[in-house]
Amino acid sequence: MDFTYPANVCFECNGCALCCGDTDHKLRHILLLESEAEEISAATGRPIENFCNESNGTQPYIYEMKKFEGDCVFLKDHKCTIYEMRPLICRFYPFELKFDKDKNTHVFAATEECPMIGQGKPLAKKDFEALYTLANERLP
Ligand code: SF4
Repeated sequence: MDFTYPANVCFECNGCALCCGDTDHKLRHILLLESEAEEISAATGRPIENFCNESNGTQPYIYEMKKFEGDCVFLKDHKCTIYEMRPLICRFYPFELKFDKDKNTHVFAATEECPMIGQGKPLAKKDFEALYTLANERLP
């Protein structure tokens, strides 16, 4: 596994759902892989076009989650109603994984937007290995 990650970073989700909707400073784009949209559709019985729009120029993510009043359509009372099958982007937040061509390696970075960065338990390499493995399993 060839990646770098932020050392000594602390994080523990408090379920604030900030990442599930737009904020005053950020228009949220909840992107989905085709396989993820199909899984959600199969589990909820809702056709993909009922909760997603097609997304261009964001491959391999070909769908974008619809929002209601700025929040993901699956957010109800601050709770994700499809938590077990939430998209990769949701599982990664507040981290993202990018490929650094110069260093020829993948790099995990954290967004300072999340109020829980710096809170809770320090994350270990195994936490990022789990995300890295998931990305490798899902991304084409
Ligand atoms: S799928 Fe769930 S975790 Fe992801 S944005 Fe929607 S409500 Fe939030």
